[in-house]
Amino acid sequence: MTTGIPVAGSGLARHRQTLPLSEVFGPTFQGEGPFTGYRARFVRLGGCNLSCGTGDAPMVCDTEYTWNAAKFDLAVECPEIRTSTILERAGRISAPISVLTGGEPMTHQRKPAFTALLTGLRELGQVHVETNGTIPPTPAVGELVDHFTVSPKLANTGDPAGRRLKPRALAAFAAAAPGRAVFKFVAASPTDLTEVDRLVSEYSIPRRAVWIMPEGRTAARVLACHRSLADAILTRGYNTTTRLHMLLWPEEDRGR
Ligand code: SF4
Repeated sequence: MTTGIPVAGSGLARHRQTLPLSEVFGPTFQGEGPFTGYRARFVRLGGCNLSCGTGDAPMVCDTEYTWNAAKFDLAVECPEIRTSTILERAGRISAPISVLTGGEPMTHQRKPAFTALLTGLRELGQVHVETNGTIPPTPAVGELVDHFTVSPKLANTGDPAGRRLKPRALAAFAAAAPGRAVFKFVAASPTDLTEVDRLVSEYSIPRRAVWIMPEGRTAARVLACHRSLADAILTRGYNTTTRLHMLLWPEEDRGR
């Protein structure tokens, strides 16, 4: 008779020790936000709860290979990898900061493997998490993360507001700003900045915790967009960031 309860060594028990991994890379520079230019290792997990840029939306996701099963074979792109193996790869990279990114890494936060990964990464230095801000951290995860970069998606990404803006999560991250969280918005036009203004007001996000990043998939586009928005960003009292990796390594869309 089987009990249905997984036992150590069973397929299910092993699965609980794994996470869908896209890539581990570095050392490189953090390319965006307040830590731009810092040496960092990156761990990119698969899976996302949004689908930015599908349909006719102008703002496209630059890591579709982590979640878009219609375009990519996710079993190949993001195979389930044991946490111990991820940590072993991360440990070979010399850098003071680990950046956990995706996809949307917080979709995995309730898995034991996720807290095991954060715990292991903390032994290597600071742990930063990049998130779309739709999932509030559990207390356990919150304690294991030094810094959240929260990037709520604007209307330009095409997802409906009810999907991309989650009030409880945004309020939780706003309460952690600016000490443990900052907000990074990707903007292409003054209209996008007006939308940022509304969110900042609605969720009481401190302006000093807001970074505006220009849209763009090429160095020329990033620079042109940044120049067109710079004065308006300054006037509003926000910070700004470029996309350093796009300027330094424009031909390389992975591993940088
Ligand atoms: S939230 Fe991030 S990873 Fe997910 S679809 Fe949007 S841009 Fe891509």
